[in-house]
Amino acid sequence: MTDSTTPDPLAVQRVRHELVRRALHVRRAERISPNFMRVTLAGDALDGFTSVSFDDHLKLMLPAPGQTELVLPDFNPGGPRGPRVDDGAPRPVMRDYTPRHYNAAAGELDIEFALHGDGPAATWAAQAQPGQQVAIGGPRGSFVIPTGFDWHLFIADDTGLPAIARRLEELPAGCRAIVIVAIEEADRRGLTSAATLDVTWVAPQPAPADASAADQSSLATATRSLKLPAGEGYAWAAGEAHTIAAVRRVLVAQHGLDKSRIRAASYWKQGAEGHHENLAE
Ligand SMILES: Cc1cc2nc3c(=O)[nH]c(=O)nc-3n(C[C@H](O)[C@H](O)[C@H](O)COP(=O)(O)OP(=O)(O)OC[C@H]3O[C@@H](n4cnc5c(N)ncnc54)[C@H](O)[C@@H]3O)c2cc1C
Repeated sequence: MTDSTTPDPLAVQRVRHELVRRALHVRRAERISPNFMRVTLAGDALDGFTSVSFDDHLKLMLPAPGQTELVLPDFNPGGPRGPRVDDGAPRPVMRDYTPRHYNAAAGELDIEFALHGDGPAATWAAQAQPGQQVAIGGPRGSFVIPTGFDWHLFIADDTGLPAIARRLEELPAGCRAIVIVAIEEADRRGLTSAATLDVTWVAPQPAPADASAADQSSLATATRSLKLPAGEGYAWAAGEAHTIAAVRRVLVAQHGLDKSRIRAASYWKQGAEGHHENLAE
């Protein structure tokens, strides 16, 4: 029995970090599958980098389209939130990415990019070469999900796969992880974990036009087919906006998961640039 003074071992922790901007360069760029690029960033400014959760994200800053030089915005610390760019200066591209792997000893940070088409970040990643300048901001905060659940469910499209791969590498032995990822066959990969894994790959789909089309998506369909284990579980889902909202509806309505045991985030939205939303209702 726990009393009100006993911390709940399954409570999610929110950790805030000082916002630090780091000017870095590309050390390596490797195409790890036909539609995925791993870009390794390095630089003295990486010293002290911290990322405590697989759910973290960085603000990646890239040269404005058509420019080779990175002009960094003024972060305006202490002032109104959000970066400011001087009038007339080319605006850098800023997009959210998962810190896939940080190797403090080597001074290297890996990011894995889904090459989805012609967005500026995906286009940049496809041509990334050693020596190119980038900057990162954050992570500003971390959402730390305890590992002590009886089971962990992960559902994502290609954009959430880097976070899932990281989490699986971090889960200790004795954990049970159920994974559903919608991705092209050629981009499916071996996932490494000390946890017991149950992995299902499903076909990717174009962004559904609306909620009812999303209910028929491959990820929502696979989520409906799940037989979840008994015990306390936590579900994490990330990917296209309509699809992840549909997945979340299935988790709540069909599987009866408590909303506090679901972290569902929209990582991109058809027609929107740099979209990010945590789906809470
Ligand atoms: C917290 C967080 C973490 C993320 N982590 C990663 C990560 O580790 N790796 C990763 O690859 N992505 C990740 N993403 C998703 C990535 O930020 C978006 O895909 C982003 O839109 C890419 O920027 P862009 O400049 O290429 O395209 P944008 O300029 O943002 O968008 C251009 C067009 O492309 C469409 N689009 C964007 N992404 C996709 C996609 N994946 N498939 C199809 N169409 C798309 C948009 O709807 C828009 O019409 C993450 C997003 C968030 C919010």
